[in-house]
Amino acid sequence: MARTEEVALGQVRDLLRDFPAFEFDVVAHLQSMRHGTWLRKAWTRTRAARDRLTPEHLVASTDDLRRRIPGYRGLPPVRTLDDIPLLTSQRLRADSLLFIDPAETDESLVMTTTSGTTGPSLRVLYTQHFHLRELFLAVPTALVRAGLDHLLATPFLTLHVTDSTRATAQVFSDPAGLFGLQARVPVAVGDPASVDRTLAMIEEFKPAAVTSRPELLGALLHTVRRRQGRNPFASVGCLVSSGSTLTPTLRADLSGLLGLPLVELYALTETGLTAAACPQAALHVEPSVVAETLADGTIVLSSLANAAMPILRYDSGDRGRLDDGCPCGSSTPRLALAPGRVVPCFHWPTGELFVPTALHDVFERFSVREFRVVQVSPDRLEITIEPATAAPPTLTADVAAAVTAMLPTSVTVAVSASDLPAGRPNDRYRSELA
Ligand SMILES: [Zn+2]
Repeated sequence: MARTEEVALGQVRDLLRDFPAFEFDVVAHLQSMRHGTWLRKAWTRTRAARDRLTPEHLVASTDDLRRRIPGYRGLPPVRTLDDIPLLTSQRLRADSLLFIDPAETDESLVMTTTSGTTGPSLRVLYTQHFHLRELFLAVPTALVRAGLDHLLATPFLTLHVTDSTRATAQVFSDPAGLFGLQARVPVAVGDPASVDRTLAMIEEFKPAAVTSRPELLGALLHTVRRRQGRNPFASVGCLVSSGSTLTPTLRADLSGLLGLPLVELYALTETGLTAAACPQAALHVEPSVVAETLADGTIVLSSLANAAMPILRYDSGDRGRLDDGCPCGSSTPRLALAPGRVVPCFHWPTGELFVPTALHDVFERFSVREFRVVQVSPDRLEITIEPATAAPPTLTADVAAAVTAMLPTSVTVAVSASDLPAGRPNDRYRSELA
């Protein structure tokens, strides 16, 4: 066993001793070890930005994809990228089975689900290799692109903080022995004990990177500020923000107060790591992805990196601008995202803070297809829901009761049912307070 591998398993032992709520799947770990060599090679290629997908390569691949994958069977003969029809998230959600390559089903596939921050969630199947790449290489890749290679020294630990109530506390050990551990930490932002536990973990394990959505990082920062005590982030290497828009205010707050490098990345479940920030803090499209923008700014993405579900011209639902030429000298286009997936934090009169994505599981439980959540005054939320199926007459009252149970008693909730247009990413959560 390599020395780094011993370090990683020692870290697992320490983590499990101090935080017994973590799960470590030994069998899955041993099974993944047969892919250790692959992961090491993939890291060398990714780090050196080899394996570049060009539009020409993409066009040349469509003949083959058309033969193999039922969802692409109707494609006309393709000469340029524009000949490939756009793939919408609605289509991929409705017919996801049709986009799986039948040739890849012998390998054990890994099912992932989109976060649901921007629209109804969608299931995507990953090959083992793509799963390992996303799990272990995404953060190291972002660090290398940002010029923070020195943080990759072992023992390397990444804490990924999530507010999904479906996520369990879990730790993964890298089978290549290069990157140490990746730990997933669920946090309930409305629960002070849960926030304290998360901060204690960050302080104790001194991770090289804490990764999360920016508004969750903002909520942790809010608690650190209110405590005015020790800074639990003092020994953290860097913050990695992804999953929604990092606003300039939050960027300044986070890096200013915590004094840490803050690295932004843009990743979709459908295409994996899609863009990462350079040392100038500009996002650059990853070499394994072909990005285009339509006339209205819609970002369209293609990637063949996940062999189980190759993605051709996917309408990401995000908007932005692509251009070449950045002082950093990167050879891939720079991507300026339009402010889209902003998730506001709701501040209550009690001084507490609430990240509304925590409500997502409530909506899923009640089969709500689409929703809008608006904080209309300091202590009032107005929620509009569109039921996915024939709804029981008590639906709005049931949703109101479930949401109310998650909020301070002084906050009132009004729920109404209505048809909602399929949302752009920024439509789901809004605050009307200044
Ligand atoms: Zn750059």
